[in-house]
Amino acid sequence: MGIHKNLAQIFTEIPEQVSLVAVSKTKPVDALKEAYESGQRIFGENKVQELIEKHTQLPDDVQWHMIGHLQRNKVKYIAPFISLIHSVDSLRLLKEINKQGSKLNLKINCLLQIHIALEEHKFGLSANELDEILSSSDAFDFVNIKGLMGMASFTNNQEQLKSEFTYLAQLFKEKTIDFKNLEILSMGMSGDHQLAIDCGSNMIRVGSRIFGARNDHH
Ligand SMILES: *Cc1c(COP(=O)(O)O)cnc(C)c1O
Repeated sequence: MGIHKNLAQIFTEIPEQVSLVAVSKTKPVDALKEAYESGQRIFGENKVQELIEKHTQLPDDVQWHMIGHLQRNKVKYIAPFISLIHSVDSLRLLKEINKQGSKLNLKINCLLQIHIALEEHKFGLSANELDEILSSSDAFDFVNIKGLMGMASFTNNQEQLKSEFTYLAQLFKEKTIDFKNLEILSMGMSGDHQLAIDCGSNMIRVGSRIFGARNDHH
């Protein structure tokens, strides 16, 4: 497997202040171990079941990120060990995360997912919904809203991608004025992370460029 080489290549391309989430969904534990041995510590998964199974099989210093749509009834399974949930897309979900955090007496780190793509089916909040959640965020003692996340359209059209990334970066910048805890802007994947970084991303989520192609398209 070329995982070590792929990671080394990506590290030469990204600035120091940009965090790399290795998106390991659908990939076997051996592939994650190879990435771990190359120095990678942040892994992203999009299914609760897979997160649970994989996290017990890697060393304790791995930081696990949930990047996929999260159902409220499954929050309790990942709450004890999750480092960052990228995909908070409703107030109801945030409330549930807060509830599970309170049971464990720990603050759970979250990003609010913003809808930036043309595709209707993609998850995420509108700018208005974001305002609603941020203005009520003081009420949640057991969540830490650390930033914003977005998934761009499934396209190679650079202009389209650029306009979506720029929109999210602008929104992020605006909100950081009043909400000082916002520090993470998670955007950019295998095909478009360079563009996303140029637009202001400081956390990229890269799967296929590290681990090879999957049988899905995201
Ligand atoms: C799968 C996935 C990625 C990584 O996609 P690649 O194109 O393989 O880099 C990033 N973010 C989310 C939310 C994903 O589901």
